Amino acid sequence: MVFFDPHVHMTSRTTDDYQAMADAGIVALIEPAFWLGQPRTGVATFKDYFASLVGWERFRSSQFGIKHYCTIGLNSREANNEALAEQVMEILPLYVYKEGVVGVGEIGFDDQTPAEEKYYRAQLELAKEAGLPVQVHTPHRDKKQGTERSMAIALEHGLDPGMVIIDHNNEETVHSVLDQGFWAAFTIYPFTKMGNERMVEVVREYGPERIMVNSAADWGISDPLAVPKTAALMKMKGISDEAIRLVTYQNALDAFAQSGQITESDFEAVKNIDQSLKFNGNTILRGGQQPRIDKDSIFIR
Ligand SMILES: [Zn+2]
Repeated sequence: MVFFDPHVHMTSRTTDDYQAMADAGIVALIEPAFWLGQPRTGVATFKDYFASLVGWERFRSSQFGIKHYCTIGLNSREANNEALAEQVMEILPLYVYKEGVVGVGEIGFDDQTPAEEKYYRAQLELAKEAGLPVQVHTPHRDKKQGTERSMAIALEHGLDPGMVIIDHNNEETVHSVLDQGFWAAFTIYPFTKMGNERMVEVVREYGPERIMVNSAADWGISDPLAVPKTAALMKMKGISDEAIRLVTYQNALDAFAQSGQITESDFEAVKNIDQSLKFNGNTILRGGQQPRIDKDSIFIR
């Protein structure tokens, strides 16, 4: 089986993770722009970050045979620094039209403040103008209310729910999200969001239509293999192969391919790995290293 992880923050992960993901069958991924764990102090670091998502990180991913896409946006937490948020809004159009940018994201609510709402609305307008899907981060606190509010605002701005991926769902939110025609993404994240046993039951209850699974692996305790592991568990629990394919591959592809930026044949093309390639003169290999080391060997040379 092959997998598509539509939400994973590879900037925070290691080459071991890339290797393990490729070995587990992940052929493509989407890296949403997000919060780096501490507040940024100026717009220049946003520029460098966005540039890395369409540059170095995409290259690094390609070195493991995984096709890398990204979404670009101002995350909800940093929307609360309005002086900086204004500057970030000004540079977003320079990045959302770049090749391989498959949406505006991840945007939405964290604390559900007025500033978060203001920049969420502004970015919905940007997505509409650019004809891109929207990847919506829903809050951890007051999730049900925050999710409803995110959807209501998207509809108010005239977005087609088929262009909006509501992320970080749980059993409490899924019914309404599907009912209103949005895509429902589920983050399998240890301890805080969804466990994958619960995910199996969601698919059993609601079926595979418009549902997708992601890892949202980042700098926290998370699992970049959450998508293939969930597929394995679904198989064990008797979910059909076709349903597994839809929620771990095809639905994410269909949702984000509406950007016009995803071509499935590119997943194959990137498999022709040449780890001696360079990006702006830099490679993933450090002095004298050989490409593709064998992790199962006890010898580390
Ligand atoms: Zn995220």
